[in-house]
Amino acid sequence: MHRGITSELYGGGPELRLKQEMLLGIGGWRLLRALGLAPEICHLNEGHAAFAVLERARAFMEDTGQPFEAALAVTRAGNLFTTHTAVAAGFDRFPPALIEQYLGGYAEKKLGIALHDLLALGRQNPFDSSEPFNMAYLAIRGSGAANGVSRLHGEVSRRLFLPLFPRWPEDEIPIGYVTNGVHMPTWDSAPADHLWTETCKKDRWLGTTTNLEQDIYKVSDARLWQFRTDASKSLVAYARARLSRDLTAAGAPPQDVEAAKHLFDPNALTLGFARRFATYKRPNLLLHDPQRLLRILTNSQRPVQLVMAGKAHPADQAGQDLIREWMHFIRQPETRPHAIFLSDYDMLLTEHLVQGVDVWINTPRRPWEASGTSGMKVLVNGGLNLSELDGWWAEAYTPEVGWALGDGREHGDDPSWDAAEAEALYDLLEGQVIPEFYARDAHGIPAAWVARMRKSMASLTPRFSADRTVREYTEQHYLPGAETFHRRAAGKGAAGRQIVDSQQAMEKDWPALRIGAMKVEAGGERHAFELEVYLHDLDPNAVRVELYADGIDGDGPFRQDMERIGHLAGTPGIYVYRAQAPAIRLPADYTARVTPHYAGVAVPLEDGRILWQR
Ligand SMILES: *Cc1c(COP(=O)(O)O)cnc(C)c1O
Repeated sequence: MHRGITSELYGGGPELRLKQEMLLGIGGWRLLRALGLAPEICHLNEGHAAFAVLERARAFMEDTGQPFEAALAVTRAGNLFTTHTAVAAGFDRFPPALIEQYLGGYAEKKLGIALHDLLALGRQNPFDSSEPFNMAYLAIRGSGAANGVSRLHGEVSRRLFLPLFPRWPEDEIPIGYVTNGVHMPTWDSAPADHLWTETCKKDRWLGTTTNLEQDIYKVSDARLWQFRTDASKSLVAYARARLSRDLTAAGAPPQDVEAAKHLFDPNALTLGFARRFATYKRPNLLLHDPQRLLRILTNSQRPVQLVMAGKAHPADQAGQDLIREWMHFIRQPETRPHAIFLSDYDMLLTEHLVQGVDVWINTPRRPWEASGTSGMKVLVNGGLNLSELDGWWAEAYTPEVGWALGDGREHGDDPSWDAAEAEALYDLLEGQVIPEFYARDAHGIPAAWVARMRKSMASLTPRFSADRTVREYTEQHYLPGAETFHRRAAGKGAAGRQIVDSQQAMEKDWPALRIGAMKVEAGGERHAFELEVYLHDLDPNAVRVELYADGIDGDGPFRQDMERIGHLAGTPGIYVYRAQAPAIRLPADYTARVTPHYAGVAVPLEDGRILWQR
């Protein structure tokens, strides 16, 4: 029965999917417990595992006797949610009836909450009974922090989760970012490992990687270029062997098998291109004008060869069609010597590609590539990137380290924009990439190319190494998360109980809160503001009153705490606040707002209330 549940990934419909996610999240946490493991941090990789949030809280209830809400307030501090998708459609959603069928009993008997309250954790509007249950919403409501996987993806994610934090400015949506990195020792070739060991020593990917940059600058042009040409030779040898093997296995005519053994030129520029053939990756952008691509590949003075690999999901007809388009192009007799498509795209094949190509091409449709990692794998091997300004490349790219496609803005799936980017891609190849590769000095070395390689290796390899990613997760999330979790868990979750009590008081008094009119004294350098706020029965220490103004010209917004200077005599519950702010803005640009304030609780992540003056 369990094998049935795990038999098929991304198939079988929502019911199978729900069972899989229950097994992963609830079963996963139970397994840890059965093994006697009690991790402080549970890192949720996308919403698929979000049921772990529930089971972790349930286990805490069992251990301490706390009710569900308090248990969740404690345990969420130790959960970190990393979102990976750049489109709302990428979130797993389940029909409410399915949640009721499979988790109704669990909610009532195990968590001690009503089905409605469980559903509310996965809904934008808890009172909309038709709204599906969103796993990403559950994940964010059950975590102490959330992040995207690149700087740009952090921005995109703040936009995607905006509906969960009504009336909050987009840049305060509590989702940060930790840019992905790749495990360099997995992706470097033996010669690359040798080169890096020689220049930067054996433990280079451990600890701090600050010296790498200086060390790699010391490598000579001749050494770097030799390293690169050796890598090209290895890739060509691999491509020949692999293609002739594939052709033999497919029963191809002997002359085709023989031809495959002489395919490619080890001295020609090699472009690499491997991906899942999902439409957002635009794997056919390079094929926009097949004749122009053919001219680029077959230029007798400056030949170019293309190695491709990929696969599409069996149910993805559009992806399958894109592969067929490429196969059709490659089977033409003129193209055949210059381009190959290797099937069975897997890590082993990727390893050969990223170790051997001169340029790695990636053409996703911005902003749909949350991070992208394949381009990072070429860095350690001296390969260069030519990519859309999306995902990691949007923060990595500078003109010295590679080439960029796009204008750094979003254009949806506008076909005319795709066409313009395809033209720009050909222009880049013809006008910059190919000439630079073939511009050789007296020693046969392309000096500008080697300088670019060195810069890319030196400055990007350490930044996009998993070492840096893991360090950021540890410092920004795992350590502080574990500390908060311990603090809340102490005394059988006393702090968690207190958070719930404070939130209930807030819930009761919040609707009565009023912000009075603001008195302004405009000044030459600073304006002075004074404000009355009616807090009803709320403890004034339980709220934060701030002066706010939108950012100017892309700068962040202005935010400043207003100081409570007393309360209005004779009228209980009314407090007076003051603040000063720079006169670079008009007084009317400033507005006041009130938000909840609890010691050690993340606002707005754990309480999204906000009241604006206007
Ligand atoms: C690295 C890798 C990927 C991911 O590549 P992205 O650029 O992140 O999409 C996919 N499949 C294989 C086999 C890989 O090695």
